[in-house]
Amino acid sequence: MKYTFILVFSFLFSFQLFAQKSSEEKPNLVVGIVVDQMRYDYLTRFWEHYSNDGFKRLIRDGYNFKNNHFNYVPTYTGPGHTSVWTGTSPMNHGIIGNSWFNKFENQFVYCAGDESVNPVGTTDDAGKMSPHRMKTTSVADENRLFTQMKGKTIGIGLKDRGAILPAGHTANAAYWFHGRDEGKWISSSFYMDELPQWVKDFNDSNKAESYFKVWNPLYDIKTYAESGVDINDFEGGFKGKATASFPYDLKELKNDNGNYEIIKISPFGSDLTTDFALAAIEAESLGQDEYTDFLTLSYSSTDYLGHNFGVNSKEVQDAYLRLDLNIAQVIDYLDENVGEGNYTIFLTADHGAVDVPAYLQSVNIPGGYFNDVVFTEKLENFVSEEFGEDGLIMNVSNGQVFFDYDKMKEAGVEAENLEKTIAAYILKQEQIDKVITRSELTAGSYTTGIQALLQNGFNQRRSGDVLFVLNPATITYSRTGSTHGSGLTYDTHAPLIFYGAGVKQGSTTQRSEITDIAPTVSALLGIAFPNGTSGKPLFMMLDE
Ligand code: ZN
Repeated sequence: MKYTFILVFSFLFSFQLFAQKSSEEKPNLVVGIVVDQMRYDYLTRFWEHYSNDGFKRLIRDGYNFKNNHFNYVPTYTGPGHTSVWTGTSPMNHGIIGNSWFNKFENQFVYCAGDESVNPVGTTDDAGKMSPHRMKTTSVADENRLFTQMKGKTIGIGLKDRGAILPAGHTANAAYWFHGRDEGKWISSSFYMDELPQWVKDFNDSNKAESYFKVWNPLYDIKTYAESGVDINDFEGGFKGKATASFPYDLKELKNDNGNYEIIKISPFGSDLTTDFALAAIEAESLGQDEYTDFLTLSYSSTDYLGHNFGVNSKEVQDAYLRLDLNIAQVIDYLDENVGEGNYTIFLTADHGAVDVPAYLQSVNIPGGYFNDVVFTEKLENFVSEEFGEDGLIMNVSNGQVFFDYDKMKEAGVEAENLEKTIAAYILKQEQIDKVITRSELTAGSYTTGIQALLQNGFNQRRSGDVLFVLNPATITYSRTGSTHGSGLTYDTHAPLIFYGAGVKQGSTTQRSEITDIAPTVSALLGIAFPNGTSGKPLFMMLDE
């Protein structure tokens, strides 16, 4: 009797200890940071210049996945943010591009565009946005369901799609920056009828305007030995300034460069995003009760800068050294206001980027520029002649050829015949590397190679009928600046670091995929996986 009592007592005691431990490890707040266009090697290339409190702290105390990749094509911002947060690829979540040709409506649609909602905080169409085209749930949605809507979700991003898609369908709010002549954080009637007072106050504070200042390198530019010379042939630069070189006086340049838009194309866009995110954590009391909250945070100035100046520019290097300080600021703020050990951070990207092909050519590495307008015209002419019928092709975009099935029926053209004829023609064209058809993509499952990536990016209902892949480092873009979109490693290899509550210290060179992030967060919280999940939880980093 006595022993039984002790046994039961000690069992209860240990159970209680266990329960306490797990509730301590379950974070009050998850902050998921997506850095737009961040290549993995930006961590390693600029390592020596980073502070101790930003990227280095996340890696030192957290878990670093060094071989983390996107597992689908196309690697664009909309699909990227969505895949990070839904744990699946365009095959299931349906965000197959930033914009894509909607064959049912015979027009292009924008991934976050929604004509059925109204702008909030502006009268501009920039506010007509919602996640309605995203077919599956975000892990933030699953947290809302799990907590009976008591855990909050706030989405923040310089770009609307970077704010909206991660936060999911049930977010309390998503806010994005409307530049042009307004310089305000805005939202849509999908979330609210009116901006909350704290957002109005932020917008009235002239914070955005305060960033019309001179951009000089953060440290002595002579120490930026990890990037190319400041003046070179591979950068875009700004209107009204002869060379793409420091310093950039934003006040002077703003009128020729879209007014508030220029802040986005400078590291000050990341400063502004940080200011707004910290204001949100405070005003929305994120992480202050036992129900886990989510802040989905997207930094996009890095993308605008990469597109303008290229992967190898001093400007991009400087932007990352400054972003490192923004990350440090966020961690500091969370320590003070949510408490160390009470929050979890993950940091990743939405895609990488290619070195400017003109630069690669200058050092004898194959690369080039693809004229999609000429290609499309030639393809359409070929098909018209071959089948004696115009209009069998509805559209060519994002590396996909869309067929007009009504026209085909009228003309008695079989889909398989059209697929094969077009695929054979495309493969003969300059700069084309690979071609695959709808029939091949729906016949079985590819497990490796570009075929698997194309399949993961292929949504049966929304995608086209023949998909083609350009040669490595071959892009449809200007000869200055970098872009992205392919399945090659410069576009797929992205950072992934977990840090904080529930996360072990460590690192791995084992391959992980972008779609693993959301189920890992689910496992950490003990909540359901996003409903389309195709990735797997990365158990090795969970502190169990
Ligand atoms: Zn992006």
